Formats: sequence, C-alpha cells, structure tokens
Amino acid sequence: MALWKRMIGLEQPRTEWFCASDAALGHSSSPHLEITYLGTAGFIIQNAARTVVLDPYLSRPGLRQTLSAPLRPDTALIRRIIPHADDVLVGHAHYDHILDAPDLCRLTGARLIGSRSTVMVGRTAGLPSSQLLETEGREDIKSGDWTVRGLPSRHGKVFGRIPFPGDIATPPPWPPRMRDLKHGLVLNWVVDTGGLRIVHIDSADFINAELASQRADVVCLCAIGRRFRPDYVKDVVRLLQPKWIIPCHWDTMMTPLHAEPDLIPTVDLPGFVREIREAGCEPLLMPLLGRLKFPACTTTAPATVEKPL
Ligand SMILES: [Zn+2]
Repeated sequence: MALWKRMIGLEQPRTEWFCASDAALGHSSSPHLEITYLGTAGFIIQNAARTVVLDPYLSRPGLRQTLSAPLRPDTALIRRIIPHADDVLVGHAHYDHILDAPDLCRLTGARLIGSRSTVMVGRTAGLPSSQLLETEGREDIKSGDWTVRGLPSRHGKVFGRIPFPGDIATPPPWPPRMRDLKHGLVLNWVVDTGGLRIVHIDSADFINAELASQRADVVCLCAIGRRFRPDYVKDVVRLLQPKWIIPCHWDTMMTPLHAEPDLIPTVDLPGFVREIREAGCEPLLMPLLGRLKFPACTTTAPATVEKPL
C-alpha cells in the first residue's frame, strides 16, 4: 500500500470479508439470475434473455481529475466490461452514478431510464429521444419480460449536507465537471424479474412510506447511509424483508476499476455486514467485478458465487 494512503488513514477491504468462493458453481445448468457488482452503486442484473444495468460508473478518474477537470467516460473500458445492455437505470444524476450511462447506452442501444435530470444528461451526451425514458417514479415500466419501477427517494446527507443538490434544469456541459451534475429526483429502483425481485438503494437515505408496499429478495444497499441515517439497516429489513443484502458504495471510487479499492473512511464495512446479519439477512459482500449467481426463484437454493469477470 502506498505510504501516503497509510498516512491519511485510507484502508482497503480484506479478501476474507468477501463472500466470493470459486468452489460454489453447483447449479450452473439450472435457470438463474446473475448480479455483477461494478463498484460504487453499479450493478448488472442479467439472465439469458435480459440485461439491466444500474448506475454504471467504471471510468473512475482519480482524485485530482475528479476535483479539477472535466470527467470523461472511458469508452473502451465500458465496452469491454459491459458488452450488452437492454436498459440502463439511474438512481440519481450525480457523476458517480451517471457519467458512464450515456456511453453505455450509445454502445449497446439500451434505453436510459431515470429522472428529468438523468434524461437531460442523456440528451446532452448525444443520445436520441428513442433511447431516453423519463419517469417520476411510481410507474411500472416494461423491460422485456421484466418490470422496473422507480420509487421516489431522497439523497442522503453526508456530515449534515447534501452534496450538489437540486435538479439539472438546463443542458450541462459534456464532458461535465463534478459540480455540473446535480442529483435531481432520487429513485430507488425495483427490478422484478418475474422470480427474483431486486431493490436498489443508491444513496444514504430512503423514504419509508415508498418502500412499505414493496418486498424484495435482494437489496443492493448503499453502505454510507448506516452512519448518517437512523435505523438504516433496520428499516430496510423491516420494510422490504429481503433474504440477501449486497452492500455497495463503500469504496472511494477514485481507484482504477481493476486496482485494489480504497474504503471510504467513514464506512465501517465489517460493522455494516455484522448489522445486516444481526437483522436476519444474509450479507453478500462482493469485490469489484464479483458476480453472484442466484436461483431464478427464491424457494430454491441460496446464492452461489462465480469468479470475478
Ligand atoms: Zn449522490
């Protein structure tokens, strides 16, 4: 580890924290659903017929560029890691959730689905109207045989304030600077695959009443919220009753995708995992590019894990 990281207290996750085990490849011939973790709040959810991507952010420029220069998507990396997508869902329009989404849609022909701010970013990045779908949430959107639905949510406060608040009301520059991308309407996505239901919470807060009518088998849960939002894990488990929780948004997102990630200093990842387990759910902590294989239906066996991409 670099000396400067040690000096400022940046730590890395330990291998033994992850649930990955190459041995568990048991039912690869049975119908299944795969979930790949992309780092930050990014996921690929796919089966043989459908690929939905959430909050892809693979480009991960370093600290200096993030703070001082326009942010450029790494198109070659996006093409290599996500060669196919049908729909791309964005939870909110901050740079670490949306920067790579327009390029991914352009490369794959996928629709970009999200708030007015998200659509504004897609349009500014050059996507045609046919690939843009705006939603205010609370509506079922067909995605092949699946259904996706945005639940209105809110952005978490970090140390008492929301970073880059507000909507993107006019087309931002492209490539954008970090400050150009306000969060806009925040949506928690429900991805209903007909068997497994996945709920994606990509920021450090949510609205209890919006989650109350939902159930989930898997929740992808932003790890930052535990410190800043009272009853964060407890409320998610009580309202959504998931079997599995996949922690996300625990790394600084400023290391290259294939390098060892740094932990966000305010996130106690082992404590988060412990709290999930104590709440009665199975935590599935994945390394970046780790891939989980789930049974197509939750009444069968638990998740197994495949090698990272
Ligand atoms: Zn954000």
